Amino acid sequence: MTSKSENWFTIDELDANTFVISEYKHWEETHCYLLNGTNKSLLIDTGLGVENIWEQVQKLTNNPVTAVATHVHYDHIGGHKYFNDIYVHEDETDWLNGGFPLSIEQVRNFLIEEPCDFPKEFDVNNYYLFEGTPTRVLSDNDTIELGERTIQVLHTPGHSPGHICFYEKDKGYLFTGDLIYLGKLFAYFPSTDPIAYMHSIKKLLSLSVKRILPAHHDLDVPLSVIKDMDHAFTQLYEKGLLKHGSGTFSYSNFEIQL
Ligand SMILES: [Zn+2]
Ligand SMILES: [Zn+2]
Repeated sequence: MTSKSENWFTIDELDANTFVISEYKHWEETHCYLLNGTNKSLLIDTGLGVENIWEQVQKLTNNPVTAVATHVHYDHIGGHKYFNDIYVHEDETDWLNGGFPLSIEQVRNFLIEEPCDFPKEFDVNNYYLFEGTPTRVLSDNDTIELGERTIQVLHTPGHSPGHICFYEKDKGYLFTGDLIYLGKLFAYFPSTDPIAYMHSIKKLLSLSVKRILPAHHDLDVPLSVIKDMDHAFTQLYEKGLLKHGSGTFSYSNFEIQL
């Protein structure tokens, strides 16, 4: 379904009111999701901030737009600078206020890992982490009303302390951020919590899900991956390996780096 193009952003339509805005030219292949309700729109993650995502959003809705991050990592808040209405989970408000634990040099080094094909005018030396004050602070089980669409907030820490997934029960959409995607899952930074990661995946097992929508890489994620990841994390836990420094473990379509 993906149509890769010459542009920095690629837009795909999931349904008439839901769009994916992807950054395939960067190694992280980050996805942001625009959910249009009858009253307002929600942009789940705003990408790297290398190009202006607001210009893309404007093509897809006339609604007022709220930006929300699954978590406050640079690749999910880069475009927050284009929005005034910003929501964040309560456990990462400090990261949005300059308290992020990595230096800007470390962030820039992640950003410029290969492969990437930045726009000509992009200069990494001018790249900064977004800082700002949220208009709403979210907690577990909060709902966001868009008008004929209700989005539930699920606190799913592990990859980061205030990581959240978004669940739209009516459509069976589960927006999983960096908790679940096909590729290498990161649980080795000091700010990650491998045990919390396992519990967050377990929390998703009981949901009725028709589509998993990840923040990175392949958009076609099999629904079975939640069970597979639960199994993998639980086995590591039972072997005493679910802790920082254990190494990287490979499975059929994902890896876990501890
Ligand atoms: Zn992340
Ligand atoms: Zn990410």
